[in-house]
Amino acid sequence: MTENETRVLVVEDEPTIARAVADRLAAEGFAVEVAADGPSAVERARAYEPHIVVLDVMLPGFDGLEVCRRVQAERPVPVLMLTARDDETDLLVGLGVGADDYVTKPFSMRELVARLRAVLRRVERPPMDDGGGPVRVGDLEVDQRARRVRRDGGEVHLTPTEFDLLACLLRNRGTVLTRAVLLEQVWDWADASGTRVVDSHVKALRRKLGQELIRTVHGVGYSLEAAQ
Ligand code: CA
Repeated sequence: MTENETRVLVVEDEPTIARAVADRLAAEGFAVEVAADGPSAVERARAYEPHIVVLDVMLPGFDGLEVCRRVQAERPVPVLMLTARDDETDLLVGLGVGADDYVTKPFSMRELVARLRAVLRRVERPPMDDGGGPVRVGDLEVDQRARRVRRDGGEVHLTPTEFDLLACLLRNRGTVLTRAVLLEQVWDWADASGTRVVDSHVKALRRKLGQELIRTVHGVGYSLEAAQ
């Protein structure tokens, strides 16, 4: 995928911010469309099929959380969430919203572009070829090539980052992985400043796949149990 073909949907109701973000992304070579409220964001995501959505939380119509839910229910697409304050980020992380990363306002365009590129790099990574078919873990069937998960025979929709996290835990079954290691392997982050992003995604995986799948090792990190 060249960047000329990388479509970004920017959802932001403040015209100044929306225009600044759209202009910068266009200058970086992305194709950009803008939506300014919840319902039109869902409609644009359906028609435009963006590779990534930059999504403000507070929107007219319905909010960014609802946009995130509705858009990802239709098709897996990474979401970079724009939050108003650090405590809003904490709240969303606590809810396990399906965002792939968060940027707190006010942000620099340089930071936004860097975070957006980092999410896209992760999503575009080729799937791990483990040389075998789907792997069974308890009531789950994980197909790493197709990036699909089934639970009790029904398909479970994971965000690209949720899938990468699950795949990483699966490759290291029975081993406790620290948040720093998970950040490096799944998020490509060299520093460990984003550990709550890990917690958020573990929470989302538990909600979708069952509470007992991933074990918290207090003060250390997480592991997927070897025997289920
Ligand atoms: Ca707003």
